[in-house]
Order: sequence, then C-alpha cells, then structure tokens
Amino acid sequence: MQEFIDQLPKLAKDKHNENKKFFTKLKKKAPKQLDYIMQELHDEEFSNTDCLECANCCKTTGPLFTDKDVDRISKFLKIKPRRFEEQYLRTDEDGDLILQQTPCTFLGTDNYCAIYEVRPKACREYPHTDRKKFQQISNLTLKNVAICPAAYNIVEKMKSKLPV
Ligand code: SF4
Ligand code: SF4
Repeated sequence: MQEFIDQLPKLAKDKHNENKKFFTKLKKKAPKQLDYIMQELHDEEFSNTDCLECANCCKTTGPLFTDKDVDRISKFLKIKPRRFEEQYLRTDEDGDLILQQTPCTFLGTDNYCAIYEVRPKACREYPHTDRKKFQQISNLTLKNVAICPAAYNIVEKMKSKLPV
C-alpha cells in the first residue's frame, strides 16, 4: 500500500488532463444511474481497502470543522469549545476552521483516530465518492486522487465503466 501511496501524486498528475476531460463531459451529460453506480464502486473499493494501513488523508490534509463538529468533539474531550479551537484549530484565508497542523493531532502512530466516534463530518465523508451527484465535486476529486488510493482507483474504474 505505501508504495502506491508514494506514487499517487505522480500517477494523479499523469492522469490529470484525462480526468479533467472525463468530468467535464460527465457534468454535461451525467447518466441517470450515476448515484447508484458510484455507490457500487465506492462499496466495492472500500470493501478491499484498509484505511488503517493508509491514513494518508489524515497525514496530508486536514478536514474543515463545522460549529457542530467543534461542539461535539470538545464535549467528548471535556473541554470548552473555545479552548478546543484555541488549542487545535485556526481560521484559514477562506474563513474556515481547519487544523493548526498536519498530520492531524488526533492521528495515532498506529493510524487510529483518537476521536473516531466524534470525528468531523468531513472526515466521515472523505473521499466523498459515495456522494449524490458526484460529478458536482469534480474539482475536489481531481485533488483527492493524488491523496487517496481508493479515490484514485474509483475514478479509474469510473472511466472504464462510464465511457463518455
Ligand atoms: S480527526 Fe481523525 S479522521 Fe479526522 S483527520 Fe484527524 S485523525 Fe483523521
Ligand atoms: S480514505 Fe483514502 S486516504 Fe484516507 S485512509 Fe482511507 S484510503 Fe487512505
């Protein structure tokens, strides 16, 4: 797995133009059953993926934290939301709350997440490959295929299953 993760940025760069063209065409004419197909591709890929062997999303990018995330996590950690923000988060140039550092502070050396039960919504949903109307997040997906091996494989399978 690590070898594949190390190769991902280059693999994704090599596929970037092809992927971009594919998503542009898909957006113009998305098949009616796209949500269903994506759910199948997502389930199939993740049934063969052990995120604990990877954790590349937690190591290289951070999630956005919503107010609900902050409330839920600070309650779990038994600290005040304001203190949680001061200790772990910062506001980025778009005004979003993000982690002060990557790899994520809550990631253990064994790749387990210390706040897994209450982790941010963005972590739960990453890499968003089972999202409805998947074609609408193509810019995000073009970035995610360089980070997430499962997302890379799903997009490759998408292209062969849905020639556009
Ligand atoms: S909160 Fe947990 S799941 Fe989210 S980035 Fe950190 S370690 Fe990963
Ligand atoms: S979601 Fe993707 S990047 Fe994150 S741990 Fe799982 S396979 Fe790795």
